[in-house]
Amino acid sequence: MAAPPRPASSDAPAATALALYLHIPFCTAKCGYCDFNSYAGLEHVVPDYTPALVQELALWAPAARDFRVDTVFFGGGTPSLSSLADLERILRAVYAQYTVAPDAEWTLEANPSELTAEHLAGMRGLGINRLSIGVQSLHDDELALLERQHSAERALSAVEAARAAGFDNLNIDLIFGLIGQPLARWQQTLERALAVRPEHLSCYALTVEPGTALYYRVAKGQLPEPDPDVVADQFEWTRDRLERAGYRHYELSNWALPGRECRHNLVYWRSDPYLGMGAGAHSFFAGRRFANVDAPTRYVEAVRASAAERAATGRSTLQQIRGGETPSAATLRADAAILGLRLIEGIDPHAFAVRFGCTLEAAFGPAIKRHLRTGLLERTADRLRLTARGQFLANEVFVELLPDEPASPERAYAAPEHET
Ligand code: SF4
Repeated sequence: MAAPPRPASSDAPAATALALYLHIPFCTAKCGYCDFNSYAGLEHVVPDYTPALVQELALWAPAARDFRVDTVFFGGGTPSLSSLADLERILRAVYAQYTVAPDAEWTLEANPSELTAEHLAGMRGLGINRLSIGVQSLHDDELALLERQHSAERALSAVEAARAAGFDNLNIDLIFGLIGQPLARWQQTLERALAVRPEHLSCYALTVEPGTALYYRVAKGQLPEPDPDVVADQFEWTRDRLERAGYRHYELSNWALPGRECRHNLVYWRSDPYLGMGAGAHSFFAGRRFANVDAPTRYVEAVRASAAERAATGRSTLQQIRGGETPSAATLRADAAILGLRLIEGIDPHAFAVRFGCTLEAAFGPAIKRHLRTGLLERTADRLRLTARGQFLANEVFVELLPDEPASPERAYAAPEHET
């Protein structure tokens, strides 16, 4: 399949870079640990969903007129479930209405169980140039614990098929700290993943999130909680092993070969502007953070209402599509500090002061002083960052940066990154 035609305006320079996040919320089954905005059994919504996403792209296009789209990220849910026709329709809508950088990064999150050679070739042909494959583990019993639909063998063959289809920029998502997982078993998974030499590795510690099936199994005593000492050992070993393998640790949970950092996720961690579209998608745009309504059916209705308003009056507030409140200035500062500290390079205090009109010390003085003393934070010539020990205990720092106000539902301490 040929890439959608790019209008001449795509090559024109535009002032500010913008990232687009496009959420595809459908999955074949809900994994036991998953608290993402994803749904199984909503196949009947799919025919209305792509047109709604295309409509939302059109609704936002005037506001993004002066921006240049540098990265597009299809996250989920399971974007690799989308048909090639749906993906092509969305790509055409982006190219038709936005200025897209010629070297834009187009990432799509993929689930090993659905990746066929034909689908992979089609996606590559459309111009998707980076795949993020949700492998999670390379042991079948661990995949069963997570209630994933694929086997270890299927995951490795999906990676091989992606290479054969021409993907030369691959991320592999892995989870460590699994319940009952000894260090040696995590080492085996990571070594097998390294053997296929992905350009990028995301290694997350398992979190038992309230509301998930896994949470209830732990709460009922059917499963123990992950052992924090084992998790600490696994993290430390991972950091050393990946450094020896030539990967740069650039974010708490992310490693890349030189130059292969995820440009899209860097936008979140640097608090640069992004527009999220689709059910539950988050945005940080024009200095404000907001999120769309979560439920796909409500999202489709809300986009239709906004589009109807635009057609009738020539304007639309897009308010119908939003859920939750807009965070306060104090929350925005805290989000920027927490997201920035997730980067191994840390925060540039000067850039923070310019952006917020307030120094890091003025915003978080006592917490910073305390953690410079505890050894979880350190200053370099031009940065404030977590120490090697602080990288593992980051939440102890983050919690002290939060403002004393009720949490907003759409606050994004953790970047809205996704594993499928
Ligand atoms: S972990 Fe990924 S594949 Fe599993 S339910 Fe969540 S979004 Fe879907």
